[in-house]
Amino acid sequence: MKPKPVLIYILPIVIVILLFSIWYFKRRAATVTDSRLMLGTFVEITAMGESRDELERAVESAFLRISEIEAVADRYTKNSEISKLNLMAKRGGVGEIPVSDDIIEMLDLAGEVSERSNGAFDVTIAPVVDLWDFSPGGRGVGGRVPDKGKIGERLRLVDYRSVVIEKDNNTVSLRKAGIKLDLGGIAKGYAVDEAVKVLRKLGVESGVINAGGDMAVIGYKGGYKGGHKGGGNNGGTPWRIGIQDPRNPNGLIAVLSLNDVSVVTSGDYERYFIKGGKRYHHIVDPKTGYPSEAAISVTVIAKNTALADTLATAIFVLGPEMGIRLAEDFAGKTDDGGNSVEAMIVGPDGKFYETGGFKDIVEYLD
Ligand code: AMP
Ligand code: MG
Repeated sequence: MKPKPVLIYILPIVIVILLFSIWYFKRRAATVTDSRLMLGTFVEITAMGESRDELERAVESAFLRISEIEAVADRYTKNSEISKLNLMAKRGGVGEIPVSDDIIEMLDLAGEVSERSNGAFDVTIAPVVDLWDFSPGGRGVGGRVPDKGKIGERLRLVDYRSVVIEKDNNTVSLRKAGIKLDLGGIAKGYAVDEAVKVLRKLGVESGVINAGGDMAVIGYKGGYKGGHKGGGNNGGTPWRIGIQDPRNPNGLIAVLSLNDVSVVTSGDYERYFIKGGKRYHHIVDPKTGYPSEAAISVTVIAKNTALADTLATAIFVLGPEMGIRLAEDFAGKTDDGGNSVEAMIVGPDGKFYETGGFKDIVEYLD
């Protein structure tokens, strides 16, 4: 009897192994990345895990949550809750308006940071910001320095104490006619936190969200249960986050290796124009009405992005000495004994200033 070719036995086995491998690796190693223009910036979400379909659904839901926040918080969106409040104040009204939990939470945190930073952070900065043109299109050139008298006039409308929230019945009242709210210094951070909550709830154990410099990382890069290859971190490695060189858009000054934390950088290079050799940028000192010259860039690491976002802006206005003190004032202890808030400031002199624990996390590049 003629023996059958070996192939006849082997081929089905090979095919089965091949199909199994494709199925296995598709399940085991999916990375989903998507970015969308939201909140006036590019929001990028990356999620890593076993099932591409599940990750895609989670990322979609996270973007949906961000658009909900944009719909209530954006002052350029007609009929947003912030627009309604601003319109009421413009018409001279000082009454109450019912708002969502999102607005209450943002204004609550903003108020606390305003108090503790002695007004360096102030959501009622809008009337002054509107005199300047820091729109992305105006980057680098153009722009116009407003009239000094006009700035002084508008400064009288800047007062975070005129915003009163009522947590029991979810209302906000503005106590001064003509004031105007701008959540630009907190909304991105808050939205990132909410997106993180959605991703985690939908089972994402490894991911990163970046909303134009406001970042949060979930777990470890490539670290999820199915990806476990022995060892800790679910088989993943810490996420590596670069801190941009404020004077070189393509360079980094440092790299941070982190997990389950938020990192926010505010810099004078994000939105600015140069006039008469002087740089005018989008972080305004509520005491003067002019862009703060107390820093070049500020990076804050914290347990949540909304806090890191507000602190980065406040520290920028305060400068190195008072800024470091503010970061330390907000720092509690983490589970591993570290500080829950760390900050690094590139001062006006180009020197680096840090909180005590920052050195342990950072890897400076030269
Ligand atoms: P960030 O991008 O987080 O640094 O915040 C800057 C944005 O917050 C600006 O584009 C303004 O919309 C707003 N802003 C500017 N200066 C302040 C300030 N002193 N306090 C609160 N928000 C501010
Ligand atoms: Mg900020």
